[in-house]
Amino acid sequence: MKTSFILSASESIRDAILNHESELESLDRAIGDGDHYINMKRGAAAITELHAELAALTADAALNKIGLKLLSTIGGASGPLLASFFMSMAKVLKEKNDDTTTTYAAAFATGVEAIQQRGKAGLGEKTMLDVLIPVAQQFSTLASANTEINAICYALMQTAEEGMLATKTLIATKGRAAGLGERAIGHIDPGAKSCQLMINAVCNQVLS
Ligand code: ADP
Ligand code: MG
Ligand code: MG
Repeated sequence: MKTSFILSASESIRDAILNHESELESLDRAIGDGDHYINMKRGAAAITELHAELAALTADAALNKIGLKLLSTIGGASGPLLASFFMSMAKVLKEKNDDTTTTYAAAFATGVEAIQQRGKAGLGEKTMLDVLIPVAQQFSTLASANTEINAICYALMQTAEEGMLATKTLIATKGRAAGLGERAIGHIDPGAKSCQLMINAVCNQVLS
């Protein structure tokens, strides 16, 4: 993976977050404390400020630095979770040190496992994991089958969207929405929405 790809993908992510201000804010206002948009915006801005520094690093070192920065800038539950995703992904890329789709899929899956461990959550708990777990599984399956990267991107965007929409009918068992019981039904989880937006942004960067 090239560091220049990470930089352009992070710009696409920032734009996607900024373009969905009202949606992200109202989702977290409905079933959380209303700060998810602000948290994500702060994280994205901190990464933008780091660009010059990141540009001088290898891709794995850049991802690790992004994780550390998110840990110190995003308040709330999503900060440490996303930080552990990027730092675990960086570790796999460093160890494998090659440029194959299977390595990217393995790195992504390891990042998602790190979120599961850190947040002690799994599928169906109305969190970002309802997007990330199915995407990680599909990415690994398609990469092992030597599926061409553009086809993988289209499939992952579709799966991310389905996972995000599926959180609407779930009750939450983790995070702030867990105290709401049935009142959380009818609302998409904000972290699931922001993860879907980020996956979309990165896939579109690959496709462009
Ligand atoms: P906070 O809830 O602390 O205000 P944010 O609003 O930034 O933090 O992030 C909320 C999102 O974090 C939720 O919508 C959910 O997707 C995710 N989240 C919260 N707790 C967990 C957990 N234990 N595992 C996975 N994701 C979680
Ligand atoms: Mg919140
Ligand atoms: Mg908060």
